[in-house]
Amino acid sequence: MENRTVYMDNSATTPVRKEVVEEMLPYLTENFGNPSSIYELGKISKHAVENARKRVADAIGAEENEIYFTSGGTESDNWTVKGVAFANKNRGKHIITSSIEHHAVLHACAWLEGQGFEVTYLPVDRYGMVSPEELKNAIRDDTILISIMLANNEIGTIQPVEEIGKISRENSIYFHTDAVQAIGHVPIDVKKMNVDLLSLSGHKFGGPKGCGALYIRKGTKIEAFLHGGAQERKRRAGTENVPSIVGLGKAIGLATGEMEETNKPLLEMRERLIKGLLQIPKTHLNGHPTERLANNVNVTFEYIEGESLLLLLNAKGIFASTGSACNSTSLEPSHVLTACGVPHEIVHGSLRLSLGRMNTLEDVDRVLEVLPEIVQKLRNMSPLTPQEYRAL
Ligand SMILES: *Cc1c(COP(=O)(O)O)cnc(C)c1O
Repeated sequence: MENRTVYMDNSATTPVRKEVVEEMLPYLTENFGNPSSIYELGKISKHAVENARKRVADAIGAEENEIYFTSGGTESDNWTVKGVAFANKNRGKHIITSSIEHHAVLHACAWLEGQGFEVTYLPVDRYGMVSPEELKNAIRDDTILISIMLANNEIGTIQPVEEIGKISRENSIYFHTDAVQAIGHVPIDVKKMNVDLLSLSGHKFGGPKGCGALYIRKGTKIEAFLHGGAQERKRRAGTENVPSIVGLGKAIGLATGEMEETNKPLLEMRERLIKGLLQIPKTHLNGHPTERLANNVNVTFEYIEGESLLLLLNAKGIFASTGSACNSTSLEPSHVLTACGVPHEIVHGSLRLSLGRMNTLEDVDRVLEVLPEIVQKLRNMSPLTPQEYRAL
């Protein structure tokens, strides 16, 4: 018990599943051909890439020729935001997104603002939810793209994407959703949801790092992202990352096929964690109580520094994340928690525990055994802690 490691940072990344590694291996060794080569060895690689494309398409209700392989979620988000903006600038220069998107969307939007585009960042409520009404009010004649994530990576809030898709469609505006965290946890059907572009990333669901995909609905006007060879229907040049694409295909098939079996224990663990953590005084749950990913727990402890908390957890073999983890070199608080209205005096005391297939109820109990002591220790050290929350 003492020396066990508890990995609860599955929203940051996941291990590549054994079945996935097995399918990838031949494409690192004997099946090393270039998919663009017309001889047999090349055709084997080409076939493997197309098989993976079909698996990705099937997982989200798309057609095979609407799937484009990329280097991950960041590229898919950047490609969407910049590619749609530049291809449609004759129609308008206005983009709508939310204030809690991943930085891959937010920073791409900020860059576009420097290029003469205008961006509206929709606020969210205290649970991190975007309001469809506010979205409607933000739409202008020159709006060309709406980008709202399916599920948030920090607080797990799941957005009303189907409703947002409907509004986008009614107004003939392209709709992109970052589904990186949602794959394997939320059922996705791009047709039903009226999604025109969707980002996903292999390493968030048991696939390899550095490989993702972008769904682009047939007929969508978007600039090519990389210019060069004719790969990916001339929209994303460069020799395909065949082994990783094979792994991505295998992983997404497993993740979506096993969604229900996976979510059930995750939900049980999530609820046990939340219940246990909220017993610590002056602790608040972040994100929506029910409309949230089965694997996400995010709380704020008052009078605590998240970074110190992580270090003490690390010393106990527990790996988790805080609202400032993405900016660990800066003291910037999480833009997501800030947008949800978490007061700045306490926003640094946040902790994200993101569960995965490997976690067990014993892991949950271990965390619940260790955390209250650590929180108390830190509170005892902080000059901000009121007397009543000091002594144990
Ligand atoms: C991880 C993540 C990304 C970035 O994906 P990478 O493949 O790591 O580049 C984008 N959006 C969300 C919501 C994520 O969680």
